[in-house]
Amino acid sequence: MDPDSAYIEVAVALPVYQTFTYSVPELLRDLQRPGKRVLTPFGRRRVTGYIFGSSPPPENKEIKPILDIIDEQPLFPATMVPFFNWIADYYKYPIGEVVKNALPGGLNIHEYSTLTITDQGRRALEHQQPPPVAQKILKQLVGGACRISRVLKHIDQPVSGRLLHDLEQKGWVTRKWELKGGSTKARIERYVRLNHSAPAADDLSQARRRILDILAIEGEMAVKALKAFVPTAAALIKSLECAGYLTIDHRRVYRDPFGDSIKLDTALRLNREQQAVVAQVCKQLDKGYRPFVLNGITGSGKTEVYMQIAAEAMKKGRSILVLVPEIALITQTERRFRARFGECVSVLHSGLSAGERYDQWSRIRQGATPITIGARSAIFAPHKDLGAIIVDEEHDPSYKQEGKLRYNARDLAVVRAKQNNCITILGSATPSIQSYHNVTTRKYVELKLTRRVEQRQLPEIRLVDLRQVRDARGLQRFITPPLLSAMTESLDRGEQVLLFLNRRGYASFPVCSACGQPMRCKHCDISLTLHRRSNAYRCHYCGFSRAATSHCDSCGSPKIRHLGLGTEKLEEMLTSRFSQARIARMDRDTTARKGSIVRLLKGLKEKTIDILIGTQMVAKGHDFPNITLVGIICADLSLSFPDFRAGERTFQLLAQVAGRAGRGDRPGQVILQTYNPEHFCITAAQSQDYATYYQQEIIFRQALAYPPFSRMIQLKISGKDPHQAEQFARGLGDDCQTLKATYPATYRRVDIMGPIEATLTRIAGRYRWQILLKSTQISALHRFINQLMTAHHTRFTHRRIRVAIDVDPVFLM
Ligand code: ADP
Ligand code: ZN
Ligand code: ZN
Repeated sequence: MDPDSAYIEVAVALPVYQTFTYSVPELLRDLQRPGKRVLTPFGRRRVTGYIFGSSPPPENKEIKPILDIIDEQPLFPATMVPFFNWIADYYKYPIGEVVKNALPGGLNIHEYSTLTITDQGRRALEHQQPPPVAQKILKQLVGGACRISRVLKHIDQPVSGRLLHDLEQKGWVTRKWELKGGSTKARIERYVRLNHSAPAADDLSQARRRILDILAIEGEMAVKALKAFVPTAAALIKSLECAGYLTIDHRRVYRDPFGDSIKLDTALRLNREQQAVVAQVCKQLDKGYRPFVLNGITGSGKTEVYMQIAAEAMKKGRSILVLVPEIALITQTERRFRARFGECVSVLHSGLSAGERYDQWSRIRQGATPITIGARSAIFAPHKDLGAIIVDEEHDPSYKQEGKLRYNARDLAVVRAKQNNCITILGSATPSIQSYHNVTTRKYVELKLTRRVEQRQLPEIRLVDLRQVRDARGLQRFITPPLLSAMTESLDRGEQVLLFLNRRGYASFPVCSACGQPMRCKHCDISLTLHRRSNAYRCHYCGFSRAATSHCDSCGSPKIRHLGLGTEKLEEMLTSRFSQARIARMDRDTTARKGSIVRLLKGLKEKTIDILIGTQMVAKGHDFPNITLVGIICADLSLSFPDFRAGERTFQLLAQVAGRAGRGDRPGQVILQTYNPEHFCITAAQSQDYATYYQQEIIFRQALAYPPFSRMIQLKISGKDPHQAEQFARGLGDDCQTLKATYPATYRRVDIMGPIEATLTRIAGRYRWQILLKSTQISALHRFINQLMTAHHTRFTHRRIRVAIDVDPVFLM
């Protein structure tokens, strides 16, 4: 950016789709830099904006000056500006809000305004009988200046903006804009050290002398640490500094998100396959953009490969971004990277406090830590000179962000790698159909790891047909005799057992035994789940809960049957069956508290857990060497979802969870229980044969023209009033049809499906409708949606009905 430029391009943090040009007062010019925030006038408000770069002098338009530059240092490097622009354009999201979403929370400042009564206003109140509402407002202000929101709250009737404006015009009140927020700041700590030419300390008090003595031994010290020796130190150092004994430094400190210390390790000797992969990738490190798919079976040592590539990239002065699907996995990956790279690693994920996240962000931005490990939002980590972007377990659906800015971090990894001219590696034992299709069309380069490290074998997988135990009761229905005996044998040998059941809670299907009515959420069309531990029925979609003692809504009967097995009930059943075993559960309920995941992982590692029960959280990438038996309680739970990816998802989950067995010296065994033993997703998972699975799945996708043979944009329409939501959806559907009919040649290949009522018709009190746009070309869909938004922009800013645009949707229900 031109440092002397008089004009800059700014993205304001408001729901608008374009950037704006502002002028920069001369005084502020040498402070302007892309990535800094500015305070700008916008209409009658002042808002935060982000500098994108300099702007050419505008033609005959009135240009307003910015009011201030907020940051001393840029929050993101200039190289990220094209990235933000791409995202705004591709996902149809306001540009300033893209940036706001990307930045760590707690940075954004908001403004509010306060009203103050003037002397004139006081006189008016006494002598002039203003209209009743005005009178109420003025009376309120007599007590002192007050925020507008507060004033309005106390007057329980609507107040028009016009009225406030009039009061201001009459000179009865003044309005002042103020800023609040920006609550997250760097933490500053004070350090003290002795001065070399300190005067003699003869006539000092004992405490003061003690401080000087300690500093003489310790050298420099944080005041906080000094207090451990001299409790009153904080109060004394100021006077010691004035008298010339010591110097106080204010220094920025970082909140460390890591608990305990980690022993350093060194690089492992790679096996042949690993060597070949590392060599092939490193050859490409300086040669620009190249996307790789690392197709490596479970336990083939992908993480070691990532680390050695990262080491090579660091040698070349480049930084590395590693995305991992979940916090649970970050813990493990972080430990391994920290053990290898120590202080070079930053971590970004939602488990950090706002302050911690801000600190990590600043360290990355300053280039202090060349490696970042994080969940999906870490794709925005402010690295300047990326050498590699690694997406581990790239098939994982949690890379897709639902709500707000609906992006897919795995796809953005490829975009960012392209813009930064660097490599990207999408790694998985079960690559997504999308990514692997890109391999077959030569857009991506495949890297293969076909063997487990140290000649370990893939576990043997046995299918158990659940149809044959349909009539069994109690535990036997879920823990079939083959599974039960395998468990007993493993436990007897002192090995660990992992049981996978992708449903948390106690019972997922409570039904009234008098009238047969299922217990449903008040706000969603979904069955509630009983949670015994917390004594409540809960909705897994909106969080609604009601007492576990509730009666049937339709007949009032207190007798509720609890069908549908959840992890909590399984745990209870096993506890009575295996009274000697130490049983633990890993699902969203048991891992909500900070540190609980680490405790569970530690328990497995230190063998204080014999049986671990878990949801899909346990399917992901973990490396537990002592697990020799994996039991899949019911493989079919996700198979029947009305979603074209249900099969893909099921195959991935099963193959991944099976891959947790036999990762140590002893061979592993998997027992897979299913109602559909012939289904190709199940048989492919049984033979752990990705290639065969892919070949079948891709035929089905092609036949129905589903992705990757087409692209989709879903319009998600929702509103609180069922009638209004439907009307609106139908209206928007008509608009789509009209648009297509108006430009038949351009949109010949755009299919409009719907509007239809969503499969989950109601969530959190909102009635949901969908329109699916499908085409072989994303560009046609983008043109279509642009034109739709321009022609009917009021539909997208409606007060009661929300229309979310979901580009490349994953959650279709
Ligand atoms: P993946 O992610 O492919 O499932 P991991 O990276 O978790 O596999 O590796 C599995 C285990 O094998 C880890 O404990 C890792 O330390 C070990 N490992 C990886 N590479 C080697 C190697 N070359 N020699 C010995 N052990 C290795
Ligand atoms: Zn009933
Ligand atoms: Zn609900």
